[in-house]
Amino acid sequence: MKIAVLPGDGIGPEIVTEAVNVLNALGETFELEEAPVGGAGYEAAGHPLPDATLKLAKEADAILFGAVGDWKYDSLERALRPEQAILGLRKHLQLFANFRPAILYKELADASSLKPEIVAGLDILIIRELNGDIYFGQPKGFRRSPDGAFEGAREGFDTMRYSVPEVERIAHVAFQAAAKRDKRLCSVDKANVLETSQLWRDTMIEVAKQYPEVELSHMYVDNAAMQLVKAPKNFDVVVTGNMFGDILSDEAAMLTGSIGMLPSASLDANNKGLYEPSHGSAPDIAGKGVANPLATILSAAMMLRYTLGRAEQADRVENAVKKVLAQGLRTPDIWQEGATKVGTREMGAAVVAAL
Ligand code: NAD
Repeated sequence: MKIAVLPGDGIGPEIVTEAVNVLNALGETFELEEAPVGGAGYEAAGHPLPDATLKLAKEADAILFGAVGDWKYDSLERALRPEQAILGLRKHLQLFANFRPAILYKELADASSLKPEIVAGLDILIIRELNGDIYFGQPKGFRRSPDGAFEGAREGFDTMRYSVPEVERIAHVAFQAAAKRDKRLCSVDKANVLETSQLWRDTMIEVAKQYPEVELSHMYVDNAAMQLVKAPKNFDVVVTGNMFGDILSDEAAMLTGSIGMLPSASLDANNKGLYEPSHGSAPDIAGKGVANPLATILSAAMMLRYTLGRAEQADRVENAVKKVLAQGLRTPDIWQEGATKVGTREMGAAVVAAL
């Protein structure tokens, strides 16, 4: 099994090192190969997704990704900015299904900004379509406004679009995931306003006929944003489009208290995947040795489960994380009075020791 290791920028290299240490401690023979991506790719080869990095990502069975981005690249033209590497990998590898679990470990129930009774025991899965929608829809650009009250003014425009097969593809992934959990799937859209969403909803209803064991419900995205903070435990699996999913999955992340705890997976049709923490490169704390590596370590666990077919090893890693939390070890982002504050390296080493 070959794993492409793409640490990226900011805290990326620090947290990926800890996840690699965990993988190496499992006693398996994974072939790990590292390549620069994001700002590091730009520095090394003049592009956020250098050809050699893309080639490695294509050849590998799975990709362990840190994070990309740094304010110092903000003045580069968009195509050369670090974040383009993620969009490029998703597009080239056809990674269309993004899995974002939001689990609140009982040891961290007080870390959430919501009352413990609302979030304790939270275990939801947000599945976001990654390849379509307004982020990729053409045409997009800048122009003079062709009509309306501001005719002639400079405007920016994007196109929201989904085709039936695109929605069917993500619907099947979502129904299958829901069938393995509590068998409840909530499809989030804005069908009261958007044609794209009406097509999304109609398609979900069609696909649902093939999964009679799963209960399908629909919710408008504005209501979903409210319900996520009001009664998040009412959700089991949520499926939604690229833009709504981008926003709702970050909202769900904060229910758990720290974005530093949340893994993610982006899968293609054959379960090949890119695994990365849900957070960014955190340039504000990069190099300080305080970043929480657990989201990346848990992403490696998802990789073991979904792509590498090592469910038992995934369980081992997840249990090791629970153990270090139960021991009271906390990086600063999840630290509370009475707990032991540790840095990135100590947290990673504690997980390896717990293994
Ligand atoms: P961010 O997720 O990097 O940071 C938001 C806040 O959370 C910061 O205060 C940061 O210190 C904290 N944080 C994030 N991860 C943490 C961790 N593991 N441990 C402790 N604290 C953590 O988001 P941002 O500040 O909006 O963006 C910074 C850069 O990251 C930007 O260039 C952005 O484009 C990029 N970004 C990249 C990805 C990605 O690589 N997938 C995702 C989001 C943002």
